[in-house]
Amino acid sequence: MDIGIEVHVQLNTKSKIFCSCSNAQTQVPNLNICPICAGYPGVLPVLNKQVVEFAVMAGLGTNCEISEVSEFDRKHYFYPDLPKNYQITQNDFPICRNGYVMIRLEDGSTKKIRINRIHIEEDAGKNTHSDYTGESFVDLNRTGTPLIEIVTETDIDNAEQARAYLKALRTIMQYLGVSTCNMEEGSFRADTNLSVRKKDSAELGTRCELKNINSFKFIGDAIEYEAERQILAVMNGEKIVQETRLWDSKNRVSVSMRKKEGMADYRFFTDPDLALVKVTPELLAHVQANFPEMPFPKFDRYKQQFNLSDYEAEIITSDLALTQYFDALMACHESKSATNWLLRDVLGALKEQKVTIEEFKVTPDKLAMLIKFVEDGVINNKVAKEVFDLIAKEGGNPAEIIESKGLKQIGSADELEAIVKEVFAQNPHLVEEYKAGKQNLFGFFVGACMKATHGNGDPKLLQALVKKYLS
Ligand SMILES: [Zn+2]
Repeated sequence: MDIGIEVHVQLNTKSKIFCSCSNAQTQVPNLNICPICAGYPGVLPVLNKQVVEFAVMAGLGTNCEISEVSEFDRKHYFYPDLPKNYQITQNDFPICRNGYVMIRLEDGSTKKIRINRIHIEEDAGKNTHSDYTGESFVDLNRTGTPLIEIVTETDIDNAEQARAYLKALRTIMQYLGVSTCNMEEGSFRADTNLSVRKKDSAELGTRCELKNINSFKFIGDAIEYEAERQILAVMNGEKIVQETRLWDSKNRVSVSMRKKEGMADYRFFTDPDLALVKVTPELLAHVQANFPEMPFPKFDRYKQQFNLSDYEAEIITSDLALTQYFDALMACHESKSATNWLLRDVLGALKEQKVTIEEFKVTPDKLAMLIKFVEDGVINNKVAKEVFDLIAKEGGNPAEIIESKGLKQIGSADELEAIVKEVFAQNPHLVEEYKAGKQNLFGFFVGACMKATHGNGDPKLLQALVKKYLS
């Protein structure tokens, strides 16, 4: 199986690519438009410098060669949401070429997925069709939104690798801060080209394109289905038709959408309204100087600096917001137990509450405070978890909650000794039985003493005291 993936990433620049209209998302149709992005004849596009910077960042983040000179072309097609009837894109001279993205597979091995090219282009608008009135509407807010299209070689062999590649690429774009990469909003859209061939055949088979699937899981499902469909067709001697197919996630089948146009149909030619794009050494130096640490180097650093396992480092580095939380937590309280709290309790709570880590009420400083209280013997682990759950739901400060609810551990030996004495005085017959050989009563005594402290006793100290009194 040969799989190549094209990803469109919406850049989160302030203004659009060729005009000064706002690039912010809005629900009000046709709010952020002007004669340039609405495609009036006779207007002149002016390239947004930030788009070039972001594209160069994306290129460096995917180990590409950055073209000193690239140019814009017109790609012609008719669509109601593209009034000027051509899309401005880069055809023969894209801004980046020959890169690669490293992916990590489930068995821990890594693989290099080569990037053929990255080019800059503008997005089209959106059509909506009303089932009730039979009318169609055109919303041009999205026209002129800057996109980069990232195209791989056909290095991907199966659904697992496709998912790993998309996750790795999205993480890189998030780290770079060039896009929100929100798949539901369409900021990160993947088209998957898939073909099959016999093992001994060097020639690629006819490919089908799976278009705009907005979840990693669905993309994996669609690849598995499509591979099987094509293999069956080839085995039955049928010809694969080059076409675009949609994934029906409800019925779990891919369906034909349209036959693919050949390249010639687009009638590409250089856009005469736009100058060549030059990436100067100064621009390159500026981008390099502000370049953030990428996921793979961060993975290695975390493992070494914080003694994380591959598994732990992989989870944390796969999400930028999670690395920021982790960094803040380590700055407050660097310890293995803090990492464990993050991976077990914080991630668990996020899933349960369906909130993002930025919205989470137990901030890194509050979590560090809780862990410190446990280590200092102020509260035990069980109480810490209760306070954690409470803050996660209602907010609040750990120190105040512990104080106001009287959750402090009964830590002094005197207090505990009195409790132990009391428990023993109430159960003289059990003490006799223990001394007669019923060793498993030890656990009962510890439990009874803990209960008498309402769960706030220091378990280690209690055990020591029970042992002392029974001997
Ligand atoms: Zn505009």
